[in-house]
Amino acid sequence: MFHCRLVNPIHHDPALLLSLPQLAQRWLLDCGDLHALSLHELLQIDTVFVSHAHIDHWIGLDALMRAQLFGERPLRILGPRGILDMLAGRLAGYAWNLVSRSQFVVEGYEWTGSQWDSRHFPCSQRFVGHEAPSGLPSLENWSLRWVELEHGVPCLGYRLESPRSYRFREDCPYPPGPWISALKEAVAAGQREGVLTVAGEERRLAELAEWLRPVPTHQLAYITDTRLDPATRSRVVDAFGPTRVLWCEAAFLESQRELAETKLHSTANEAASLARELGCERLQLFHLSRRTQGRAEEHLTEARLIFPETYVGSD
Ligand SMILES: [Zn+2]
Repeated sequence: MFHCRLVNPIHHDPALLLSLPQLAQRWLLDCGDLHALSLHELLQIDTVFVSHAHIDHWIGLDALMRAQLFGERPLRILGPRGILDMLAGRLAGYAWNLVSRSQFVVEGYEWTGSQWDSRHFPCSQRFVGHEAPSGLPSLENWSLRWVELEHGVPCLGYRLESPRSYRFREDCPYPPGPWISALKEAVAAGQREGVLTVAGEERRLAELAEWLRPVPTHQLAYITDTRLDPATRSRVVDAFGPTRVLWCEAAFLESQRELAETKLHSTANEAASLARELGCERLQLFHLSRRTQGRAEEHLTEARLIFPETYVGSD
């Protein structure tokens, strides 16, 4: 279905790489230093979900641009309030006189608090942005939820859910044929009326749909750079609903709670509480503070007291 991996060690810049093998596409959650990625990987990234514009989450844009400058596929950047102006500022920071033949376009999407504004920045026009219709880009039938976090600057958490899919019951009596994909498409679109031809005979769609079983979807939440006090956690739970896997920062330990409050970050204890409240199956901690370098085991022990299925990094 998909594979997730942190680009950097847990104390370094956040960037979580999602590989979608069926689509030969990769998505990034946050865009910290990307030098650890191969050119091939950089070229396959087409969508970046940016939590916020602190430099450790955003500096990798240059590496992505450098790799994709003559690509034909747009690079889509989603982020919180202010991201479009910051993107324009980044793109205005270079000279672009020899790239006018490139088809490459950077598409920006900004959550304003009420809608997703969009601006396109074509390379052929020296990345001067122009307004585009509001709304999210197509995410290959994945569904996206988001929530505003508490970090002193606009900051978003994201939840991605894989597309709905179906399997046939093993006791289905009908022979395979083109009707199978037609049926799955119709059911996914909520259609129940109509007929399909199965082995030369017309059968009602509603009857055929009885032989389909929905495959559980996969949900992944990504929460970083935020306080995770009970009020914020409850906002995340309201926005996301039950979620199978949570990737969550755990910059500090509970013994450093004051520091977490000052720096607007979370503790391992709070991350574990959120995983429990979201009904998760698994919690992956990352973005541990450099002040706690060498103490990942302590984060793990603290979190596992509340949520046993906790791991650190990409394990
Ligand atoms: Zn930050």
